[in-house]
Amino acid sequence: MGENLAGLTGSQTADTGLYNLTILILDTSLYMSDPLVRKIIHLDMDAFYASVEMKDNPDLQGKPVIVGGSPQSRGVVSAASYEARKFGIRSAMPCSRAYRLCPKAVFVKPRFHRYQEVSRQIHEIFRVYTDIIEPLSLDEAWLDVTINHIDCPSATWVAQRIKKDILNETGLTGSAGISYNKFLAKIASDERKPDGLFVITPDNSADFLREMDVKKIPGVGKVTNSKLQSLGIEKGFQLFEKPEDYLKNHFGKFGHYLYQIIRGIDHRPVSSYRERKSLGIENTFKEDYLYGTELKSELDRLAEGLSKRMRKKDSRARTLGLKVKFHDFHQITRSITLQQGILDDAMISKLAHKKLAEVTEAEYPGKRVRLLGLSVSNFADEEKEDVSLNRQLDMFDLLEIMGSG
Ligand SMILES: [Mg+2]
Repeated sequence: MGENLAGLTGSQTADTGLYNLTILILDTSLYMSDPLVRKIIHLDMDAFYASVEMKDNPDLQGKPVIVGGSPQSRGVVSAASYEARKFGIRSAMPCSRAYRLCPKAVFVKPRFHRYQEVSRQIHEIFRVYTDIIEPLSLDEAWLDVTINHIDCPSATWVAQRIKKDILNETGLTGSAGISYNKFLAKIASDERKPDGLFVITPDNSADFLREMDVKKIPGVGKVTNSKLQSLGIEKGFQLFEKPEDYLKNHFGKFGHYLYQIIRGIDHRPVSSYRERKSLGIENTFKEDYLYGTELKSELDRLAEGLSKRMRKKDSRARTLGLKVKFHDFHQITRSITLQQGILDDAMISKLAHKKLAEVTEAEYPGKRVRLLGLSVSNFADEEKEDVSLNRQLDMFDLLEIMGSG
């Protein structure tokens, strides 16, 4: 399987006579890699909400930052910076308790819209490498890079590049876990936080699992953990020693899952989510351009093409995205969302030019551009809720999948 996967984003090419326009219709990937030879990355941003706040407001740098309600409120901590964690502050802790632990902590109200924006930026980076992306939350995702867009056989190398791209683009760090299945990749990403990278190979997974605390297994919460403890099971090797029937007797279906997982068996594929509706158009140039007349007129053509397609589909969108790929394949994306109204032709053109000037003149002056793309999303008739990005790992989903396997 491999060669026939090239078209999995469903791109269509239309020869316009002048140049090739690629119209991307983003859709769910149907591709699944062979479970025996998968290369999976689990990428988890470090103290995500708090890190975004600190990045956006340099005054917060180096301070214990708590994203959540005010200390007087009944709210809980959504995220705590590493400085705050030194005081024992953790996610889901009542804000009042966090305040008692560290009265000098800075409490910041969450700005989910902003976190979603940064998350989208990170997902754009993922998509440079693979289309097989399964988000667990705004700041966590699995990526199947068995076959990837840069034809790199080393998943570790791909993970390093992704981490570097994320840092360059957002100023934030994330930790990567790399392994041959989702479970091990997720466990691995937690091993060297923050800014970590950890690999579990088929050769060392057994040793790793023997020494692991069983409470780290996804799905093992407080209740299951204390039950495991009462059975004398704290470390992986203790779980490994138990027969499957014994675990099934005590934990039902979850026992089967525990039996499999401690042997490093997890055949769940990384299942790409359905892309949020977006409509896009992009063009790779015959030669690379610096910012100037040619690049501007290429952008005009893209804007016209996009407007045409929007009219055809009767789309009314609020968010405009610009994608720029430089001569060295470094790719960045920027987006603007209208607070009011919808994008019309004039607005698309104006905003696209404004963003292009910002990117090529201010941010990356003197860098030649090989590709430009424009897209619209956030359609006026679209529901506000973006389920895919907020989807959390559901233990029962997991059980069902594991149970059937
Ligand atoms: Mg995280």
